[in-house]
Amino acid sequence: MSTKVNDFTYSTAAEPHRIRTRQIMKAHPEVKKLIGQKNPTTLWVAVACVILMVGMAWLLRDQSWWLIIAAAWFIGAFPAHTLFVCIHEAAHNLVFRKPAANVWTAIFANLPTVFPTAITFKNFHIKHHAFQGVHELDADLPDWYEAKLINNYSIGKAIWLLLYPIFQGIRTLRMRELAVFDKWVIANFVVQITFDVLIVVFFGWKALAFLVLCLFFSVGLHPLGARWAQEHFLTLDPNQETYSYYGRLNTVNLNVGFHNEHHDFPSVPWNKLPAIKNAAPEYYETLKYHTSFVKLFFLFLFNQEISLYSRIVRKERGRVTLDDQSKPDMDMIQPQPQPVTA
Ligand SMILES: [Zn+2]
Ligand SMILES: [Zn+2]
Repeated sequence: MSTKVNDFTYSTAAEPHRIRTRQIMKAHPEVKKLIGQKNPTTLWVAVACVILMVGMAWLLRDQSWWLIIAAAWFIGAFPAHTLFVCIHEAAHNLVFRKPAANVWTAIFANLPTVFPTAITFKNFHIKHHAFQGVHELDADLPDWYEAKLINNYSIGKAIWLLLYPIFQGIRTLRMRELAVFDKWVIANFVVQITFDVLIVVFFGWKALAFLVLCLFFSVGLHPLGARWAQEHFLTLDPNQETYSYYGRLNTVNLNVGFHNEHHDFPSVPWNKLPAIKNAAPEYYETLKYHTSFVKLFFLFLFNQEISLYSRIVRKERGRVTLDDQSKPDMDMIQPQPQPVTA
């Protein structure tokens, strides 16, 4: 019997990434040339994934449910997850130089995942970087009710993964300071609803259901869902707040596992994250990391020591302001001009 915990782990230290960014840039100045690079290939990856998913939806439109569910779990979940990674790259403006081109890339990559989340994701995700562990600003942290309800129960954790997009959606309600409703959110909404209607009109409801299943599996009860356990759950060490994953899924999922590297250098596109690790191995190989999503998936589900409270939170926001754009690496190589107004 393990003792149940009923609270997160509190830290009074600053989030661990900015300090490492500074140290690595000092020890390995050559990483500076990677900062601010863009990778337009990400758009072509998104195009391929969209074509694959829409094509599958068409092929499966009249098939039996077991085939639709199996195709979503075994195949569709992978391009769906890759599209989330493309949306994430666009959120950090890592695809094109022009911010608007990144926004349209995200809106496009959102298409097969049915719900218009790309722009809202961006607004919340940037704060996940700026305020890692600050409960009311980091939407990656479970809600209080969520942690209490699921705690360390295996069946609870399985249901939590199965319904992950719903839990994630509810969490955004606690982010009252961050609610944004601008023209981009509206554009995302209009484009997405149009696409969904076209799928139903031309392919039928089953095709839409296939896409919804792909979305749920891609971030849920699937080895890919282990990504949530990988990034910031205290799975391997009670004090290490962020973990990378160096395994095979980094090929199809655009190096999504290099999470420490990404938090340290959010202005470096996905294809260059391994170069960050290679440039500063003494910083990354001394941290704990994961190598298998399958192994982690079962560890997360069945290890009673791991609960939804297995996260580090902090009450202090530090010196970061609410409008921070989470480009600490960029800011360190090109000092920002001082604001004109006092
Ligand atoms: Zn990010
Ligand atoms: Zn993170």
